[in-house]
Amino acid sequence: MNKFRVSLPLDESGFLGRECPSEKCRGYFKIKPGTGLPGNSKIHCPYCGFTAEINDFTTEDQIRYAKSLAIREISKEIVKELKKLEFDSRPTGPLGIGISLKVKPARPLPIFRYREKSLETSITCSNCGLEYAVFGVFAFCPDCGQHNSLQILSQNHDIILRMLDIAANAENEVSQWLIGNALEDCVSSFDGFGRHVCYVYRNSSSNPKKAPEVSFQNLEKAKEKIIELFGIDLSNGVNNDEWQMAKRAFQKRHLLAHRMGVIDEEYVRKSGDISARVGRKVIISEEEIRQLIEVLGKLTTYFVNELAATLSKPKEN
Ligand SMILES: [Zn+2]
Ligand SMILES: [Zn+2]
Repeated sequence: MNKFRVSLPLDESGFLGRECPSEKCRGYFKIKPGTGLPGNSKIHCPYCGFTAEINDFTTEDQIRYAKSLAIREISKEIVKELKKLEFDSRPTGPLGIGISLKVKPARPLPIFRYREKSLETSITCSNCGLEYAVFGVFAFCPDCGQHNSLQILSQNHDIILRMLDIAANAENEVSQWLIGNALEDCVSSFDGFGRHVCYVYRNSSSNPKKAPEVSFQNLEKAKEKIIELFGIDLSNGVNNDEWQMAKRAFQKRHLLAHRMGVIDEEYVRKSGDISARVGRKVIISEEEIRQLIEVLGKLTTYFVNELAATLSKPKEN
């Protein structure tokens, strides 16, 4: 049997489409050949973690493309073989009958064409350098398998810090508005991060159904839930002052989101903020958000490292 090698076309940015062979997943993603771990033949699905040879991730479109190329080559071969059988016997005998066989090649068979899909997040793995693209945001690196949750969170933090730079140079009202937004973004990106990490590690928790439902908008409640589910105390990732500072910032975010930033009794009771007066607007400084970002960075790194160290490998589906 003749082997026929097909090189698959890359998209305009040099990426190759891939599709998870796992029946339950079938997730589509892209990788850039030549980046990442050299000579790596096995890859991981960024969505479910399924691991197989890189060729097992060939998409249906790519298979149709390869088949159409192969059929075209095979039909050329057939024509070549048939050509060898051509003959032409001149008319002889009293009736002047001649027989000939001529092989006329038909028009070349069409090649199946396709376009790779466009995806939502492109990322370069901070661990192995692989460039890849996925739907959604969070993913496992297809080459080294590292989850990108911390990397995505730190990208969000970089954007928030840039927003604070703008706030520092803006007039007071705009500045306050931007600082408030920066705080809301810190909390929502932390919530998105926390929920996803709990989802990824759910099968290692005491309750895989409940794990992805943990809210991270209230630090103290999140801490209790994470102890219950994973036996990890988030507050151990930072010192007590940092923990109290982060908790207070989250409570201020609660006031912004639900009380138009006006201090209520619950805040006075829970925050330990001695300058707080009920009915006054809560004060949030640019410096406070910068500190919060630093504390959240420590806390999330601690959480992910603890999960990786103390629990079995993440299982998906
Ligand atoms: Zn998958
Ligand atoms: Zn990687």
